[in-house]
Amino acid sequence: MFEWVIIGGGIHGCTIANYLIKSGKTTIDDLLIIDSHKEPMEKWKKLTSRIGMEYLRSPSVHHIDVNAFSLQNFRKLINHTEFYGQYKRPSLALFNEHCDSIITNVHLKDCWEQGRVIHVNKEEGKWKIETDKGQSVLSNNLVISISVNEDLHIPKWVNDLGEESASHISHIFSEELTNLNDLTPPILVVGGGITAAHTVIKLCGLFPGKVTLLSRHRFRVHGFDSDPGWLGPKNMKFFSEIEDYKMRREEITNARHKGSIPNDIYQKLIRLEKQGALRLVFDEVEAANKHNHEISINLKGGSGDFAFKHIILATGFESKLPEKGWLKQLIQKENLACATCGYPIVNQGLEWCPHLYVSGPLAELEIGPTARNISGARKAAERIVNYSE
Ligand SMILES: Cc1cc2nc3c(=O)[nH]c(=O)nc-3n(C[C@H](O)[C@H](O)[C@H](O)COP(=O)(O)OP(=O)(O)OC[C@H]3O[C@@H](n4cnc5c(N)ncnc54)[C@H](O)[C@@H]3O)c2cc1C
Repeated sequence: MFEWVIIGGGIHGCTIANYLIKSGKTTIDDLLIIDSHKEPMEKWKKLTSRIGMEYLRSPSVHHIDVNAFSLQNFRKLINHTEFYGQYKRPSLALFNEHCDSIITNVHLKDCWEQGRVIHVNKEEGKWKIETDKGQSVLSNNLVISISVNEDLHIPKWVNDLGEESASHISHIFSEELTNLNDLTPPILVVGGGITAAHTVIKLCGLFPGKVTLLSRHRFRVHGFDSDPGWLGPKNMKFFSEIEDYKMRREEITNARHKGSIPNDIYQKLIRLEKQGALRLVFDEVEAANKHNHEISINLKGGSGDFAFKHIILATGFESKLPEKGWLKQLIQKENLACATCGYPIVNQGLEWCPHLYVSGPLAELEIGPTARNISGARKAAERIVNYSE
């Protein structure tokens, strides 16, 4: 029997666990994190290292610890190779090292349980959580911080190509794609956002002159993925006063600079194109065909026809909640409130019903456009700590 169980041990789950322990809300013995991975934040580390991300997009005050300056204090000497630009964006290496130090100091691995949650229900006022490993635990409080990033977005033209092309096309976040070094050029990367940009920068280092980026839109250059006004009362006061959740969803959609990249990454892409390492094409796939050992692409805007040995999709994730499975059952069984977009309606303390809390995308209608980010994890942790009994 635990006081708190957290489902999902990514950036969000680990931030919440750290805040719960440091605030004295619970102890390591009364807390359990259940995650399908072996280690805390394993998914984050895998995805960010795969695309060769050098610096985070977010500033150094966004991390998993309670004190906003924890990361800067961690590296007393602010070295330009570890922080980038006016917002001191940390290098991925420094950010991960800081996370590891927090995870070690708070002993988060001592409350880690590897397993995939497959069922949750309420039994005599306690949450009963069951995993695919046949484990079953009870808890007074439950936090769901599972993100919504398990369903990859695959464009229709890829599905139309069928199974025989599968060995030529990979989603950058697919479990099967292990090493970009093993790809055979020429390579096409499809996508126009930050993941696509990082991916082509890495690929141009490996296969200069043999990489093409295909984006449906011209580059959208923004420092952050939403205006910093959304971090505080400037935008959030008005957002929190909106009672209609459909309008809140519209505000979130409008606020996000979807498919955008910061200026330093934009400059790198332009440089690579000038050097002849990268070809940029702004168009959209009309259809694709497999010929011999290549995929040929026809483009809607007539930018030309191209053939590639490998295609990498940097097309993101499906953003809707999983329609099947334990979460859906829990919503039905406990009659949990959801807006028309399918996402939870929760109170200010991120409580969906008594003693059930959410973070990340699930807390979006309360936390606003930054809910999925690291800053959103900090806000969720603060709210859960401050509002829970
Ligand atoms: C490449 C990339 C770069 C990013 N860069 C930044 C940045 O610079 N700044 C920023 O603020 N944000 C950034 N983000 C956005 C966001 O901060 C990250 O996606 C972050 O990892 C989200 O954390 P999370 O804990 O919600 O999700 P995840 O890291 O995906 O963790 C969720 C965990 O839940 C587990 N899980 C899911 N379902 C179950 C289940 N049924 N049972 C058990 N476990 C389960 C998963 O296995 C996973 O370990 C970036 C995102 C990506 C993809």
